[in-house]
Amino acid sequence: MEVIGVDIGGTAIKGAIISSNGDWWEEINVPTRAKNGKNEILSGLMRVISELLNKKFNIVGIGIGSAGNIDHLNGIVDFASENLPGWSGVCLQSVIEETYKLPVVVDNDANMALLGEMWCGSHPHTQSVVMVTLGTGVGGANMFDGKLSRGASFKGGNWGHSNFVPGGRLCNCGRKGCVEAYLSGTAFVERACEQTGRCYRHGADVFNDYQHRVADVVPVVQSYIQELALFIDSLAEGLNPEMFLIGGGVIHAKEIWWEDFQKCLKQNPQPSPLVRSASLGNRAGIYGAASTIIKKVEGKEF
Ligand SMILES: [Zn+2]
Repeated sequence: MEVIGVDIGGTAIKGAIISSNGDWWEEINVPTRAKNGKNEILSGLMRVISELLNKKFNIVGIGIGSAGNIDHLNGIVDFASENLPGWSGVCLQSVIEETYKLPVVVDNDANMALLGEMWCGSHPHTQSVVMVTLGTGVGGANMFDGKLSRGASFKGGNWGHSNFVPGGRLCNCGRKGCVEAYLSGTAFVERACEQTGRCYRHGADVFNDYQHRVADVVPVVQSYIQELALFIDSLAEGLNPEMFLIGGGVIHAKEIWWEDFQKCLKQNPQPSPLVRSASLGNRAGIYGAASTIIKKVEGKEF
């Protein structure tokens, strides 16, 4: 049995054909062109789905992960930020079901990424997991007893705009001191530029200088690692999962900073939580979307 998994992000819409045993077949990526509004996003999504359906596989359903707060029960985008203008309120499931006459499921992209990691990643037997993604923003998802915990209004795991430093750095949401203003990859690069006076474009360049112990970069990265450890420790106290899974673009340079981060976690007087890195990269959301539609087609709870 094959299905289509799709991941709708702020910059790209990525889709692939996946088998029920987790085999990855054809894939297609198109730009989201989000600034042109919801019709352009839908048009990109349908291009991905139509091209994959033309590949002559026996597709039995379509799973879609999207940025934003998603009402997965009704397949509706409950709220999307200005990264996807006009996307709030779109009845995504019914639009795609009516267009393609196939079963469809829709959920938040971070929820799908966590499900994908649990299905095809390196830690398949873990039942309670908190995922935190450190990329352009800070997102995440929660799973307890093997089930996603989406929250009362579909914001569960959306850590980015929790307050971290009262009155602190200005966040792109307009408030001050959000987690995202400290721990996103974007904030990491901004702070490196501010504190060194040099213009870094990518986090990888900052980590590279850290690896070479460039004097003014060392405290930037050490602060980031300490703040991340503090954040994870705070979540661990209240949520108490078996494992934290850290994903997002910052993980690409993990061989440079991960050991220091683990040491930092161990400095806490409490027993340090188990923290692992996500293993599927930007494929996780597509795997998760595929696994969810497979469950729906098989009549299982999802
Ligand atoms: Zn914010």
